[in-house]
Amino acid sequence: MTTPSQASQDLSQQARDAWATAISAPTGDNPSEAPGQGFGQPGKMATPRLSCVALEKSYRKGELIIPVLRGIDLELAPAEFLSVVGQSGSGKSTLLHVLGLLDAPNVGEVHCDGRRIDNLNERQRDTLRNQNFGFIFQSYHLLPELTLLENVISPLAIRHSALTWWTHRKAIHEQAREIIDKVGLGHRVKHRPSELSGGEMQRAAIARALIGQPRVLLADEPTGNLDSTTGQEIMALLASLNELQQLTIIMVTHDERIACQAHRIVRLGEGRVETVSQAA
Ligand code: ADP
Ligand code: MG
Repeated sequence: MTTPSQASQDLSQQARDAWATAISAPTGDNPSEAPGQGFGQPGKMATPRLSCVALEKSYRKGELIIPVLRGIDLELAPAEFLSVVGQSGSGKSTLLHVLGLLDAPNVGEVHCDGRRIDNLNERQRDTLRNQNFGFIFQSYHLLPELTLLENVISPLAIRHSALTWWTHRKAIHEQAREIIDKVGLGHRVKHRPSELSGGEMQRAAIARALIGQPRVLLADEPTGNLDSTTGQEIMALLASLNELQQLTIIMVTHDERIACQAHRIVRLGEGRVETVSQAA
């Protein structure tokens, strides 16, 4: 007889196998690749080594200064899968945003392959982020007026010039449809976010994060709004991407069972790293 936990393991293995096949298949023409560009240009990184030193970040609320990160040192190995856990308000999302260059630290530095990246000018930072980082936001951040297909494609619309976009539009659309199929939303391409369930919006957000073939995936509570079966499927996808595509993943979660599926777990408390542990 199959126990519920066996069933969930089988499901997880099935999802893993399906993803392994799907994501190792060639994706056809990829106009987003910028061949031969080193990251200082900035262009596409090889499997990067991301780190930060003495990060501090505060927010101002009127007269009040709220310290959120109070000196974070972190070093990721290339292609590491790292979980970040901690109580609500402990600074997990803030850390993710600062590491992903969406927000600047007040003090400290973010490095990639030994080079500082938080102090690049805005344009270089935008390019580096667009070409190398994929974000899965806590609340999806899908644009309500766009269809699923348009939402998924949007990072490439930002990346390319109008001419490149026009020239490669067919390949770009095919690439997007392929990724949408992989996340199981092939039947929803023309739907708007308001017509999707929570799980479907999460999958759409993942497809959008992957369309640019990022080297680093920053995932903020990617299973937070999902039932445990759907959450486990999403985890299988992330694990496959990490293993097969050597994607570095930093995943924020408050769920210990989800956290321990990464390689290492960093626990934040009061804006500092409280503990770092290897996952079992
Ligand atoms: P977590 O993701 O661990 O729940 P966050 O990083 O989102 O925590 O937030 C940490 C603290 O910083 C919270 O107290 C939050 O209210 C505050 N905070 C986050 N973003 C802002 C902002 N843009 N302006 C002001 N305060 C913020
Ligand atoms: Mg958060």
